[in-house]
Amino acid sequence: MSTAVPTHSKVWLKRGREKSLLRKHPWIFSGAIERVQGEPGSGETVEIVDAAGAFLAWAAYSPASQIRARVWSFVPEETVDAAFLHGRLARSIESRRKLGMLGVDTACRLVFAESDGLPGLIVDRYADFAVCQFLSAGAERWRAEIADALAELCGSRGIYERSEASARRKEGLGSRRGVLRGEAPPAEIEVRMGATHWLIDVANGQKTGAYLDQQRNRARVAELAAGGELLDAFSYTGGFAITALTAGASIATLVESSAEALRTAEREAAANGVADRCRFVAASVFDELRVLRDEGRRYDLVVLDPPKFVHSAEQVSAGSRGYKDVNMLGIELARPGGLVATFSCSGHVDAALFQKIVAGAALDAGRDAQIIERLSQPPDHPIAIEFPEAEYLKGLILRVH
Ligand code: SAH
Repeated sequence: MSTAVPTHSKVWLKRGREKSLLRKHPWIFSGAIERVQGEPGSGETVEIVDAAGAFLAWAAYSPASQIRARVWSFVPEETVDAAFLHGRLARSIESRRKLGMLGVDTACRLVFAESDGLPGLIVDRYADFAVCQFLSAGAERWRAEIADALAELCGSRGIYERSEASARRKEGLGSRRGVLRGEAPPAEIEVRMGATHWLIDVANGQKTGAYLDQQRNRARVAELAAGGELLDAFSYTGGFAITALTAGASIATLVESSAEALRTAEREAAANGVADRCRFVAASVFDELRVLRDEGRRYDLVVLDPPKFVHSAEQVSAGSRGYKDVNMLGIELARPGGLVATFSCSGHVDAALFQKIVAGAALDAGRDAQIIERLSQPPDHPIAIEFPEAEYLKGLILRVH
């Protein structure tokens, strides 16, 4: 007589807590779990079952996280292994190819985590290098298999790892940075975004080197900036300013707190032939915009692209005050009839709340404003239909009178 040896641990959910999984939402919170059968390690594949023991999903277990498991697959017959991950990566990369985003010297996000069926995995491509972030226990568990598959699928000269985001701490993981496969990247990878040239430092730049999520919005804002004077607040290396100057804006002031980012901005401005039309100010936006306002400076187009002010539901009201302050200053600095392009990348601040905050800011500034366009995240940052948490970037273009 043989006894079946269980090959995987099982996570039993509390009665009624299967509902979100039946709608294919990929997160299992610790509070939804009745009991864990077995002793799954960090990142190990577990079977999620409902209170009656019926199969719901295969998921990666994360013992330290509030999000105790993240779903790989809702199909009972599927096995989570190197071939499975290869398939998911191939599908993700193919969808960017179909969008025409894989030019030899261009940049795009190849994998956007949960939305691409690969929870906690980010992969950005800069010309012939790829940069990965393994931000969940499950992605970390399969790091070598993912790296091998990427090396084969991307045909990159090298794959670099920037697993440093705060998300990793919540998963009980330390940070890691370095070459994962192939060659080390050069100090700066040259990439083209539209008509502009960029110098990406994937080892030391912010995030994986650049904010790829604003690529399309920079091009749109540039179209509206022709002939005008621009203020690029939270400029990083000048994405909005340099794109607008190459598209016909007359002059730009960049305000950014990172002196390092501004040094790169200066070199990128020179590489694009617009350095003589840029003014670089290393300062806090909160201080500098008050100085500019009090000096009586005004701009045809003000870009406000702050970092994430809200990291959790508890921070919404404090973060909202930050957004309101910045937007009030930005609106005050717009010439009558000018434009303000304002963004929020905080997922916890939804589009309706953001609009309310900006309306309050216009009121405080004593100016009339109209929304002439709404902006969002680009197609290489897709939002899986069952995973609204993936939606985070929103922008408004205002006409200010
Ligand atoms: N607009 C940029 C991306 C901005 S990301 C682009 O298109 O690439 C937000 C930037 O704000 C980061 O570079 C960060 O260093 C900077 N930052 C954060 N707090 C700041 C502050 N108080 N004042 C000025 N810059 C700030």
